Amino acid sequence: MLRRLLLLGAPGVGKGTQAVRLVSRLGVPQISTGDMLRAAVAAGTDVGREARGYMDRGELVPDAVVIAVAEARLRQPDAERGFILDGFPRTAEQARALDAILVKLGRALERCVVLSVDEQALVERLRKRAELEGRSDDNEAAIRTRMQVYRKQTEPLIDYYRGRGILVELDGVGSVDEVAARIEGALAA
Ligand code: ADP
Repeated sequence: MLRRLLLLGAPGVGKGTQAVRLVSRLGVPQISTGDMLRAAVAAGTDVGREARGYMDRGELVPDAVVIAVAEARLRQPDAERGFILDGFPRTAEQARALDAILVKLGRALERCVVLSVDEQALVERLRKRAELEGRSDDNEAAIRTRMQVYRKQTEPLIDYYRGRGILVELDGVGSVDEVAARIEGALAA
């Protein structure tokens, strides 16, 4: 199976859940800039201090900050055998930076899997998650902002990866197992 993957999709689409499944299936790490930034905020590092306000408002953290975080992670030895990128890249500039990093490392991306779920269902999922997990950006205003940011800044990356011939678009509606099976099917070749 392919092992250098990018999961793309709107907030709440299930990227994180599927990434965790793929970690055990493929034995390669999940690289989630959202998780890394939340850890930085919790630890009170410089990156965390810089990122916090943007995250709470549902806005994107500046490209330079996120790119540095992602590059450092991709350079860790455990990413040599592959990786599951989740939530990075989110802008055209991040996508170009990722290309440059992977060229330097001599490891091209093999698949970009886009999960789609209709927007009303996504907002419902995020509201539920807000109740369960209490993430500081799962409030109404931040959820709306994250959806807008996704449509404007991140959705255009679908065309970018389609142009590369590595795009697979999958229905993200269904049980975790059903969606996982669709993804595995897309990684077989
Ligand atoms: P979700 O996909 O559920 O919105 P993430 O956990 O991926 O959440 O990201 C949470 C927040 O972290 C984003 O709203 C943004 O502020 C910040 N963030 C994560 N990844 C990036 C990125 N690649 N570029 C800019 N900001 C990011």
